[in-house]
Amino acid sequence: MKQSLFQYTKDELAQIVGPKFRAKQIYGWMYNGFVDNFSQMQNIPKQLRLDLDDKYVINPLKIAKKEIAHDKTIKYLFKLQDGATIETVWLKMKDAIYDNGKLIQEAKYTVCVSSQVGCKVGCSFCLTAKGGFTRDLSTAEIVAQVWAVKKDNNHPHNRKINIVYMGMGEPLDNLDNLSKAIQIFKDEEGLAISGKRQTVSTSGISSKIDRLGKMDLGVHIAISLHAVDDELRSELIPMNKAYNIASIIDAVKRFPIDARKRVMFEYLVIANKNDDIVSAKKLVKLLGGIKAKVNLIYFNPYPGTNYERPTKESIITFQNYLLKHGLLCTIRDSKGIDISAACGQLKSASEKEA
Ligand code: SAH
Ligand code: SF4
Repeated sequence: MKQSLFQYTKDELAQIVGPKFRAKQIYGWMYNGFVDNFSQMQNIPKQLRLDLDDKYVINPLKIAKKEIAHDKTIKYLFKLQDGATIETVWLKMKDAIYDNGKLIQEAKYTVCVSSQVGCKVGCSFCLTAKGGFTRDLSTAEIVAQVWAVKKDNNHPHNRKINIVYMGMGEPLDNLDNLSKAIQIFKDEEGLAISGKRQTVSTSGISSKIDRLGKMDLGVHIAISLHAVDDELRSELIPMNKAYNIASIIDAVKRFPIDARKRVMFEYLVIANKNDDIVSAKKLVKLLGGIKAKVNLIYFNPYPGTNYERPTKESIITFQNYLLKHGLLCTIRDSKGIDISAACGQLKSASEKEA
């Protein structure tokens, strides 16, 4: 199997291709021109192109399936070189704004990226967990997801996007490959996506939140909290027995974060489990003293689950309680709900068809 050039920082690439300017040229072809074929790299000596072609590929992903929702959310199922599949989602966050026919603000996009094939954490509400764990994604496979969706949508190199590591897998369980991908994304001559445009979502491995913090990559974190007491959280996320709520809150308090930003806490709302006002009350108390923002997520049901989607009334009542008590709180609109929005659901649907 050929290695992908997406795994290399520019300095590492320079060690392979000779002088530093060559690495810059190749980076330009890949990340600026979205070229995925060495023969198109016209200013690179022919012999070097042939040598690279012998050993390497650029893009290690193939689009196996693509679904476009009414709200323009696009969900990709990518096939990796070993045949495994992962999901990546292209989300339109804001529409372009025009004034008298003049563009005053461009549309804003976020890419939701996977970090593993499957997941070890085994959350009881998550469809990805049902398939077990296959393997970590390589750095190249993480980088390629963003590259491939930008290319497929003709999104210009210099137009900014945000990245959220909220696809399949637990990013902090694959921290070495993840952190390298984060650095490659940040390269000004690469896709130039700064740390503050990247958010790592974790089910709460406290020790690795600390490790990520020490790397000082400038990224944001989102904590999948989902419950306010350890008993329910351990039912939802078995790993909570090893890393309980208190340990996560402590790790968050130690995490370096841009003074103007907040730590996001994701709260998956499940009917009759955690959607009551007593839970909202405990949440306010738990997050007191942290610069936090809560994102409420509707549980998205799938065949075979015992959990239920909450009503709109209950989630709004919950939100209003938090807002009234000084906690910033948004409700994640169910983007792409008509294309099985929650992670793992497109993969699962395509396996049933196969
Ligand atoms: N492993 C990391 C990141 C990937 S999971 C984490 O858990 O944070 C990404 C998000 O999808 C999590 O916030 C998770 O709660 C959510 N999710 C998983 N299953 C879901 C479902 N059935 N409905 C709605 N959201 C779900
Ligand atoms: Fe893994 Fe996140 Fe799914 Fe839990 S919610 S099983 S951590 S992908």
